[in-house]
Amino acid sequence: MNKKDKERYKKKLLEFKEELTGKLLEAQNESKFVEEHIAQDVGDKAESSYTKEFLLSLSNTERNQLFLIDDALERLEKDDYGNCQSCGNPIGKKRLDAVPWAVNCISCQQKAEEENA
Ligand SMILES: [Zn+2]
Repeated sequence: MNKKDKERYKKKLLEFKEELTGKLLEAQNESKFVEEHIAQDVGDKAESSYTKEFLLSLSNTERNQLFLIDDALERLEKDDYGNCQSCGNPIGKKRLDAVPWAVNCISCQQKAEEENA
């Protein structure tokens, strides 16, 4: 991968990271707010725990994605970005454009999904 592409993906990854970090902080604040206010005011425990659960699941997904982004940024530093971590072949540019934190090439990803199904 040439330097220009690397810079482009790095920028993309950092943008995603910033967005996710913002969302996570928001979810954290909201969860705190629910705990401090809604849980007491409404007095409806079922509803507030549902909201909390939703916020927690949201932040888990996003935390996981953040982890993948950090991983991809690390691979950029180590000059290993854009290579499939399973078979070592280059990951297609189309795939990296859509999923810049992709770990596997499309055929390894499909294989993994078939095995999980
Ligand atoms: Zn592969």
